[in-house]
Amino acid sequence: MKLNQQGLLIVLSGPSGVGKATVRQALFNTKDHNFTYSVSMTTRKPRAGEVDGVDYYFVSEEEFENRIKQGRFLEFAKFVGNFYGTPMEEVQRLLANGDEVVLEIEVEGAMQVKAKMPDAVLIFIAPPSYDALKNRLFRRGTESEEIIYERLEKAHRELTLAAGYDYIVINDDVENAADRIKAIIRAEHARCRRSLNGYLQLLEENSHE
Ligand code: 5GP
Repeated sequence: MKLNQQGLLIVLSGPSGVGKATVRQALFNTKDHNFTYSVSMTTRKPRAGEVDGVDYYFVSEEEFENRIKQGRFLEFAKFVGNFYGTPMEEVQRLLANGDEVVLEIEVEGAMQVKAKMPDAVLIFIAPPSYDALKNRLFRRGTESEEIIYERLEKAHRELTLAAGYDYIVINDDVENAADRIKAIIRAEHARCRRSLNGYLQLLEENSHE
C-alpha cells in the first residue's frame, strides 16, 4: 500500500572503482520497486561502449557552462578535470510521477542535493578495503595509470566525507549491498514524516464508505 504520492530521491555515492554501477544494476533488476535512473550530463569523453543519453548526456564545456548559468542543474561538480551534473527538470518530473529516482553522483554534488532537497536519502557505498578499490580500477582498465592514481587520491578524501550521508553500505558482495539498500529504502518509505499524512487521509476516506 503506497501512502505518499511523491517519489523518493535516492543518492548513491562512493569512490571511483567501488562498483556503484554494478550495485545500481542489481538494484534495478528487482521487480518490487519503481526505480528510475537519472542520466547525468558530463563534459568527459565517452568510454568505449558508453551511449549518449543512456550512460550520460555527453556535452561540450561551453554547453555545460551555459546550463549552469541558466540554473538547469540540481547539482554539479568538477571531478578529476571534467564537469558532471544532474539535470533539474527531469528529476522534478520523475519525482512528481512517484518514481524512485536514483542519482549516482560524487560527494560534492551529493552535499548540494542534501542542502536543496533535505528529504533525499543519501547512501554512501564503501569498499571493503583500499586494495579492493585499487585492484578494481586497474582491472577495469578504462583509465591511464596517472588518472587511476588521481582517482585513488580523490577516493581517500571522499571516504572521510561519508559522515555527511544518511547510510553507509559496504560493497563486499553486490547482491548483499543491493539487498541492504532495498531495506533502507523500505524503511525510508515507512517514515512518519513521509507517510503519516497519506495514512490519515486513507483512514478518512475509508470512514465515509
Ligand atoms: P565516471 O567518470 O567514472 O563516470 O564518474 C566519475 C564520478 O562522477 C563518479 O563518482 C560518478 O558517480 C560521478 N558523477 C556522475 N554523474 C554525476 C553528476 O551528475 N553529478 C556529480 N556531482 N557527480 C557525478
